[in-house]
Amino acid sequence: MKITGFKLGLLSAPLRVPFRTALREAVRLEDVIVELHTSDGLVGRGEAPPTAAVTGETIGSIVAALRDHICPALAGKDAACLEELLSAISGSIAGNTSAKAAAEIAVWDLYAQYCRLPLYQLLGGGRNTLETDLTISVNTPETMAKDTIDALSKGYSTLKIKVGENPDMDLARLRAVRAAAPEAVIRIDANQAWTPGQAVRLLEHMQAEGLGIELVEQPVKARDLKGLQFVTDRSPVPVMADESMFSPLDAMTILELHAADYVNIKLMKCGGLSNALRIISAAEVYGVECMIGCMLEAKVSVTAAVHLACAKGIITRVDLDGPALCSADPVAGGANFNGKHIDITDAPGLGISSISGLKYLE
Ligand code: MG
Repeated sequence: MKITGFKLGLLSAPLRVPFRTALREAVRLEDVIVELHTSDGLVGRGEAPPTAAVTGETIGSIVAALRDHICPALAGKDAACLEELLSAISGSIAGNTSAKAAAEIAVWDLYAQYCRLPLYQLLGGGRNTLETDLTISVNTPETMAKDTIDALSKGYSTLKIKVGENPDMDLARLRAVRAAAPEAVIRIDANQAWTPGQAVRLLEHMQAEGLGIELVEQPVKARDLKGLQFVTDRSPVPVMADESMFSPLDAMTILELHAADYVNIKLMKCGGLSNALRIISAAEVYGVECMIGCMLEAKVSVTAAVHLACAKGIITRVDLDGPALCSADPVAGGANFNGKHIDITDAPGLGISSISGLKYLE
């Protein structure tokens, strides 16, 4: 079963409301889709979003990496030889983690179809349902309270609150959100916006006021592991590493230093499922619970993340709201998203049958 060709396409979907963090703003989801075709007529699909502010990748860089380096390295290879395909992707180009993740997702999709198993069973089985949180973008306290009420009305019970854009407003934001959602689990994400001292002060204030924050994601700059460790040592709120952890080696460093209490795994940061599995193994050794997260992704790559989370018990928190942030779902098959509930079928691979509105590139 040889890989005989590949196609690249662009998938665009409007968001329900603009997505705003301390790092960026987006009004549409615009992702690159890769299809790998085999001599037996199977199609493996993957997806990569351009998250320049986090991974450094743009649509142009993702397309070029896949077209000129990654996909040619897979051409003619046997889709049943997973390890060979994964090492071909890894060795085809340095960096480019999202482009590599897209190719890896397509390769795992093909391999699981070849094995006639849903991907989560290939990865070890386990659950077939999950519950995700929903992200509330950073805005004025009034807008965030309104968005919170809207999220509760849709049935979400865990909210991820973006903060850090003009940190002077963050306490007021959290007060407004907590007043609007007295019962909800509230986690916050500062997306690197605070200094270590500022983070500890703000988190102490929040807990002293009884705002009940479950955890804080990435309070300080991605490269500032000492700062991250400083906050973890002193904060009354558990700390999760996100932008500080791309590779399995980053994970090992953070775990050994105890620079964070939890880690957030995203396929687009680590370069795909194989590195995600390495990070999960390290976290299991240290007994550190993981979150599975996503960028602004549609259902192709998020379905891969869902399968991974269903197979691995150390993933105790799910932040896979990319598809829920879109106003329409162009992907047929894959995981089902119904408010906070996500479930998967036992269709082979990712179970994706088609993608509407895909613009193929020459
Ligand atoms: Mg984050």
